[in-house]
Amino acid sequence: MTALIPPVSNRQEPVISVVVPFYNERAVLPECVARLGRVLAATGLSFEAMFVDDGSDDGGDQWLAGHCADKPWIRLVRLSRNFGKEAALTAGLDHARGEAVIILDADLQDPPECIPAMIRSWRAGADVVLMQRRSRPGETRLKRASAHLYYRLLRRLSGSRIPVDTGDFRLMSRRAVMAVRRLNERNRYMKGLFAWVGLPTRVLLYDREERFAGRSKWGYWRLLGLALEGITSFSVAPLRWAALVGALAATLGAGFGVWIIAKALILGVAVPGYPSLMAWMTFLGGLQLLTIGIVGEYVGKVYLETKQRPIYLVRDVITPGAVRRWRPR
Ligand code: UDP
Ligand code: MG
Repeated sequence: MTALIPPVSNRQEPVISVVVPFYNERAVLPECVARLGRVLAATGLSFEAMFVDDGSDDGGDQWLAGHCADKPWIRLVRLSRNFGKEAALTAGLDHARGEAVIILDADLQDPPECIPAMIRSWRAGADVVLMQRRSRPGETRLKRASAHLYYRLLRRLSGSRIPVDTGDFRLMSRRAVMAVRRLNERNRYMKGLFAWVGLPTRVLLYDREERFAGRSKWGYWRLLGLALEGITSFSVAPLRWAALVGALAATLGAGFGVWIIAKALILGVAVPGYPSLMAWMTFLGGLQLLTIGIVGEYVGKVYLETKQRPIYLVRDVITPGAVRRWRPR
């Protein structure tokens, strides 16, 4: 006789997980929680919101933890310090339990109201539902133009695949999340990692909203860093360019040399060389430094990769059950 076997775990896994990384977003969190809650409740599916506090120091995490008590669908992972959005996203994906995981910015630029459409596409068989921006209000013309150019450059360099005009706003099936989690490199350019995975993908258009409150954490300098990271993480083309430009410069130099010798032999003109010499030397010197810089960028990446440090460190995970005992410090 076999006894009735009790279920291994009676833990309820939600169908939908929404991962929200945030860093100093105290001003937008209440609106974010309210809107997210409304939209998710209307889907009729079980859901959780995985908030990842990326080392905020404006008390947003404490506000959320206080809120968790009556909203059991909210979970909060607090990182030990600010690791950057890419690491925070990774932490969110590692902790999300849902059958489908949706990534959303806390500042409400990615409207939660798109979620039902994303879920429909997922149920229709897509593993990844990509949200592509139809419009980007509140962003300067310069930012729009540079984003446009950059995505196209990246696409060409990395052999396509990284889709244009998309951010991190997307839905991923469990299968896609597990695949992304297997990519444990330290240089995390999430858009590239997501694209690398592949799987059946649907693209939906949406209108990117303006930031609800607060200001963007991405100055031009930081964006430039991310842009370079994207290129060097997914392509070794710059190394080839460096070699190519070097070869070109060498050919030009040799040609110039031949020309000088010929001039001296045939016309008998001893070239008064100083200015041209200086020009060539500074040009070649600059070229060499640039090339070394490019090589160095890749060597640095190898160095960081070999250290095998964790991508993020968790300070604590606050779950609804524990929240009633949790006291803000
Ligand atoms: N963010 C984060 N860690 C950081 C910087 C940003 O988790 O170090 C979060 C931020 O709180 C927001 C999202 O990443 O939820 C997008 O950031 P932001 O709105 O500043 O970027 P933008 O929309 O201007 O590209
Ligand atoms: Mg934003």
